[in-house]
Amino acid sequence: MTKTEFTPASNFIRNIVAQDLKDNKNNGRVVTRFPPEPNGYLHIGHAKSICLNFGIATENKGGICNLRFDDTNPGKEDIEYVESIIEDVRWLGFDWNDRLFYASDYFEQLYQYAVQLIKAGKAYVCSLSADEIRESRGTLTTPGKESPCRTRSVRENQDLFERMRAGEFEDGSHVLRAKIDMASPNVLMRDPTLYRIRRIPHHRTGDKWCIYPMYDFAHCLSDSIEGITHSLCTLEFEINRQLYDWILDQLNVDCHPQQIEFARLNLSYTVLSKRKLVELVDVGNVSGWDDPRMPTISGLRRRGYTSESIRNFCHRIGVARRDSIVDIALLEYSIREDLNKRAQRVMGVLRPLKVVIDNYPENKVEELEALNNPEDPSMGTRKIPFSCVIYIEQDDFLEDPPKKFFRLAPGREVRLRYAYYIRCVRVVKDEKTGQVVELHCTYDPDTRGGSSPDGRKVKATLHWVSTAHAIKAETRLYDHLFIKENPDEEKDVNFKTYLNPNSLEIRPFFVEPSLSGAAPGSRYQFERLGYFCVDSVDSSDQALVFNRTVTLRDTWARIQKAQQKKQKKR
Ligand code: ATP
Ligand code: MG
Repeated sequence: MTKTEFTPASNFIRNIVAQDLKDNKNNGRVVTRFPPEPNGYLHIGHAKSICLNFGIATENKGGICNLRFDDTNPGKEDIEYVESIIEDVRWLGFDWNDRLFYASDYFEQLYQYAVQLIKAGKAYVCSLSADEIRESRGTLTTPGKESPCRTRSVRENQDLFERMRAGEFEDGSHVLRAKIDMASPNVLMRDPTLYRIRRIPHHRTGDKWCIYPMYDFAHCLSDSIEGITHSLCTLEFEINRQLYDWILDQLNVDCHPQQIEFARLNLSYTVLSKRKLVELVDVGNVSGWDDPRMPTISGLRRRGYTSESIRNFCHRIGVARRDSIVDIALLEYSIREDLNKRAQRVMGVLRPLKVVIDNYPENKVEELEALNNPEDPSMGTRKIPFSCVIYIEQDDFLEDPPKKFFRLAPGREVRLRYAYYIRCVRVVKDEKTGQVVELHCTYDPDTRGGSSPDGRKVKATLHWVSTAHAIKAETRLYDHLFIKENPDEEKDVNFKTYLNPNSLEIRPFFVEPSLSGAAPGSRYQFERLGYFCVDSVDSSDQALVFNRTVTLRDTWARIQKAQQKKQKKR
């Protein structure tokens, strides 16, 4: 772990764990787990849960955190998701040692627990249809109706459940339900379904099973089997807690974990529901789960995010019990802060404007020395070629500059980074469109390296590349995937209404020759343009592709300043 990482701030969950340790509640043990369902790729919200669960474990002596797949719904699950989740948690920097578990490994044990409930008269086989069960469940204000199957004898229930397992029945013809209370104010307690028949193969158990446990039944018991002490989950599971506890109480298990809920992460201009992310992938609104615009761990990684920056982000946002939306500018701030220290500086031009340096010898090429990172001299220097024709950025020149524009203009002198002072002496325009297509400049040979011996000052320093030496690469510039801060805000408007049609811009990119052969995944700061990462999928030695991770504009600092101002006024 790097130095910049924070000691975790205290929060209500850490306080509970600390108190439990003090009281020796679980014989001094701290065991947590991260329990994804393998029905999609992990996203930045999961990272919050991962950092919390693994964090709590590693902060406490002897604490452990398991990685467990809650793989009880084979219809939506896939081995591809299992593999990506394992890769992502590891990439984030966490280690579960040999404790990689699957709820499906417990299927036999879970079945035996269900039989135990039946024997205790706490569960029954119900033969109502799914619709009938739904209709008889009642509403928040009216109680439900008891199923006619509720009075089946233990013997009959045992027999039917065995035959469900043996594959004698069609999907949907029977379910196993808990016998609790059809009038409970908590709708989840109105005889919830524990098992259903699904005659589809499972990615791990094949066709061994045709009945599968429901999430609420499998989750609490899997936690218990693993000896979890603190079962951390997001707030929407608060109403499930009563059922979690009921099941464990009925079965009188040795380990009864404590479920604690925290607020899920919501991020502005983003959706973090797997169902919605699946839709974006399936419909082709994005190129895949690892599209650099996706809030998935694999998308962020491909975009150029480091695992440190994501962990730092998760520490910064903290853990609370109240739902809120975190500004995506904070995530961008975290990667900027990290890359500022580690990324090598280079130059490239996005929107080229040709500049001919009239008094520079036509066949001369100089190798000029450039710093790899002005913030860290230990990163050394490199050579960049300079010649009589260069590209600068189109928006670094204005023929008729307004007052505060300090960059190049007719008659004006500016500095070329690591090279010379140049002065604009002539502007060439397209006759038809009037567009500026070429500039002619002169350079001052005495200003080599970028400073003048006579102390003459210039107000701007421009980045540039030598036209003859530049590599023509491709770059992908990204904007938020959604144009609305909260795409989920209106219940009756589909979130995709707010997809940003300009979230991706693909452009040629003229980059300095030192980048020849740049390794996929390597990260750079292109001076004045932002942080970029060599694309890990599409880039090759023949065709370099750069993803822009983030621009250099720090919107988070601006937001914080504005907030401080507001507070002062109060
Ligand atoms: P869905 O989006 O379909 O509701 P999920 O995101 O809850 O699914 P799981 O695989 O069940 O998917 O999540 C694994 C763990 O990650 C759970 O403990 C869940 O509470 C947590 N988690 C999921 N989304 C977030 C989020 N946005 N912020 C914090 N934790 C989350
Ligand atoms: Mg879930």
